[in-house]
Amino acid sequence: MTAVIDGKQVAASVIAKVKNAGEALLAETGIRPGIAVVIVGNDPASHAYVSSKAKMANECGFLSVKHELPQDTAQDELAALVDELNGDPLVHGILIQLPLPAHLNSDAIVQAILPEKDVDGLHFANAGKVVTGNLDGGLISCTPAGAMVFVRDVHGEDLSGLHALVIGRSNLFGKPMSALLLAANATVTTAHKSTRDVPSLCRLADIVVVAAGHPDLLRADWVKPGATVIDVGINRVSAPERGEGKFKLVGDVAFEEVAQVAGVITPVPGGVGPMTIAMLMANTVIAAYRKAGRRPPKF
Ligand code: NAD
Repeated sequence: MTAVIDGKQVAASVIAKVKNAGEALLAETGIRPGIAVVIVGNDPASHAYVSSKAKMANECGFLSVKHELPQDTAQDELAALVDELNGDPLVHGILIQLPLPAHLNSDAIVQAILPEKDVDGLHFANAGKVVTGNLDGGLISCTPAGAMVFVRDVHGEDLSGLHALVIGRSNLFGKPMSALLLAANATVTTAHKSTRDVPSLCRLADIVVVAAGHPDLLRADWVKPGATVIDVGINRVSAPERGEGKFKLVGDVAFEEVAQVAGVITPVPGGVGPMTIAMLMANTVIAAYRKAGRRPPKF
């Protein structure tokens, strides 16, 4: 019988732990974890993401500050805000909502955030720590950190002897995910657009993590019976069954058929998605503990 992971429930338990840790830090040191979220421009999807992050930060009892900048914000204005937030002792985490408008250089902005406040885990210093297996020293990118919570829930901390396939090699997800699985002793293959015969590689995998942005990419006959399948993809596809012009969100896995073969599977929506915000909150509380000179909780 295939187990379907309830991402909302797992995320809620992460949030409960974040909240307790934040309250304990406040009670013991007077320090309240603080997050600053920066959004530039008018993209409605980005505004929706930022609102849900700010709402969750409030629920966690954090100090939460939102900076909304106009579409025509100049590079040096945004850089000046990052500088100001880097120096603000009440802010432990800085999140720049991506993508930024096309005239801005996102890389330069992300790399200008102090690594210890980079709660998105995108600074080279944090990415480098993940690759070198220094997982307690930096901040881990939120979506791969969330997917690893699922992997650990199913397989435990030590993945010795297990084969993992990650489909996708983005800096945001595929590369850090592969590094985290490797750090947990899995034998890891990273597939991408130029990989030959992904289905054959997939049939060897005990753990498959798909982040390609391609609906129905992973089919049942790719999957080893009993494998754990984690679907990171988020694709907006038309859904005429819901009415004319309607859309729905689907992942990269042909869920109905793969669920017949996999041992454990994550749905879209309601799988990895809710974990991303939960791990952002976890990174903020970790950053605040470190700033206070305390050992942070593990998530
Ligand atoms: P990306 O577009 O930067 O990278 C996609 C990767 O998939 C590339 O490395 C590409 O080579 C590989 N790929 C594409 N088609 C392939 C194929 N047919 N076979 C093998 N490899 C293939 O994307 P990303 O930023 O890593 O995001 C991937 C997906 O995950 C997207 O759907 C995105 O929306 C989703 N995502 C979700 C979350 C979340 O749940 N919070 C976070 C990040 C990304």
